[in-house]
Order: sequence, then structure tokens, then C-alpha cells
Amino acid sequence: MKFLIASALVLVGSCSTIRHSEKIDNLKESISYDNANTVEQYLSTINSEQLRTYVEEISSDKYEGRMTGEKGHDNVCDYIRNYYKSLNIKAPESHSNYYQKVPKKALPENINDSQNVIAYIEGSEFPDEYIYIAAHSDHEGIIDGEIYSGADDNGSGTAAIFEMAEAFKMASNDGNGPKRSIVFLHVTAEEVGLHGSRYYTDNPIFPLENTISTINIDMIGRVDERHKDNEDYIYVIGADRISTELHYIIQEANSNFVNLDLDYKYNEDSDPNRYFYRSDHYNFAVKDIPVVFFFNGEHEDYTKPTDTADKINYLLLEKRTKLIFATVWYLAYSPTPLNPEII
Ligand SMILES: [Zn+2]
Repeated sequence: MKFLIASALVLVGSCSTIRHSEKIDNLKESISYDNANTVEQYLSTINSEQLRTYVEEISSDKYEGRMTGEKGHDNVCDYIRNYYKSLNIKAPESHSNYYQKVPKKALPENINDSQNVIAYIEGSEFPDEYIYIAAHSDHEGIIDGEIYSGADDNGSGTAAIFEMAEAFKMASNDGNGPKRSIVFLHVTAEEVGLHGSRYYTDNPIFPLENTISTINIDMIGRVDERHKDNEDYIYVIGADRISTELHYIIQEANSNFVNLDLDYKYNEDSDPNRYFYRSDHYNFAVKDIPVVFFFNGEHEDYTKPTDTADKINYLLLEKRTKLIFATVWYLAYSPTPLNPEII
């Protein structure tokens, strides 16, 4: 009797497993780029030398380590918005100076008020559907007289957004603009507790219920110890938590355009580092928005004044930026929106 019950259970289990794997196969098959040459055309404008220029600027001493609420960070925010102005990428109508003020009361004690910087390209067919590309703009400031440059953390993410924004704007100028709106979001106060992104998601400029996905970039210019013999990698964290489709879109983007090793080590819920909870995408995830976090892992200069621009691997930063660009392209140009479900 016991044996029979056990076999029946195994049978039921394997049936549902088959159905599940069929669903996954069908999902994977439904994801494809029918315009890969067009994607490639704009993807190829993302280049390591431009990324280097941006990382060097953002991490330079004149911004004094970009501590939230301090002059250096205010100045880098001004540099960021001027970049969008120079490309003629617009500010939200309700925040025409590109700034969302984050008041002192939303920040930890002893930190002055600050701002998120927001620019966007309006979608041609579904302008009320939004895809965010986010990266924090702040860092640790000056500690014991030493400037914390934060070239990787998060000059790399900021530079990546700049290059993608330029490429999407070029596409837009050529009449190949995104169907959905793409929002470039540079959040403040990440280092002091993810406050800029929390303030944004509590006070969204564009309706959160129309948000398709948030792609967060925080440190993508370096190589960690685990990959010192195989540098072509990126950690992908959280993409399968809210939407199964997002997880496979990233794989399709990767196999079509860059072929990095997608490392899911830190995506395990049991991972003691808990990176999923430690950067700005998390505040979108708690609002049930499909998110992904791209990350290179920690390295010997992480949160040290030695995280400088000369140590960034710019060719690798270029490849990783291309992967993210191709992912965002799929989300923004697909005839149907991302399916926000787990299968
Ligand atoms: Zn960071």
C-alpha cells in the first residue's frame, strides 16, 4: 500500500514537472529578436572609450566622493542633468529641471536634502508604459581626509546609463525609437540606505502600476576573485523573482549579442550576502515590479578610496552595457509587454 501511494505521488510529480518544462520551452521559444540587425546598429555605438571618459569624470576628485547632500554630489547631479540636456533627452513635464527633490526628512539624520535625477525618452506606441534603467549617483564622500572615488561604485553604472541613453536617442532620431517609454533614473542616497529609490517609489513621477520593469546597475566595471580566470561574466540577480519571462529575455539578449557568462550565484535566496535586498531595485521589487540587478561582485577596492577609474576594465564594461542595452531594447520594443508572472 505504501509503495503504491509513493508511486502515485511520483507520477503526479513528474506530470506537473513535464507541464512546467513545456511551459518554459514555449516561453523561451516565444522570445526572439526579429530586428537583431537594427539592435546591433545601435548597440555598436556603445564603446569603451566613451565609457572611460564618463567614469573618469564622475569619479574625479572635483566631486569629492559624491556624498549625499554635499556639494560634490550636487555638482555631479548637475553634470548628469547637463548630459541629458546636451543630448536633447527631456525631463519629466512635472520636474522640468530633471530633479526630484529628496527632502531632509526622507533621509537619515545629519544628511542634507538631495535629489534624484530623471530623464526619459517617450515611447512611440505605448508612452504610458515605462521601463526604468536605474543607477545610484552617490558614494561615500571624504573619510579621514581621503576621497572615495567610487569609480566602479557607481561611476560604472552611471556611465553605462549615459551610453545607453545616447544609443536610444540616436535610434529615436532615426525614427527607430522605443515603443515604450524609457526612464533614466539616477537615484541619490543609496549608500546611506537606499533612500533615494525608496523616496522615488513612494512618490513616483510616472505611475508605478504602468511600470514594466526596473533594471538596476550597481558596479559593473570590475572583476571579482571568483572570476579572475574568466572575466567575461556578470552576476544577474532577481530577474526570476517576479517575472519568469524577464529571466529568459536576459538569456536571449546575451546569446544574441554578447555571450557573457551569466552567473546566478547571488540569485539564490539562501545566499548569505543577500544582494537582492541591498541595492535600489529592491524598492521597486517590493512594489511588485519585475526587476533585475546587474553586478560584478565585490573586489579588493570595494568601499575603499582605491576604487579608482584606472582600475576599471573598460572593454568588459562595454560588453556588460551592451547586454543591458539589448535587454532594455527587447522590453521597450516588444509588441506585447513583459508578462509579470512566475510560471
Ligand atoms: Zn553601489
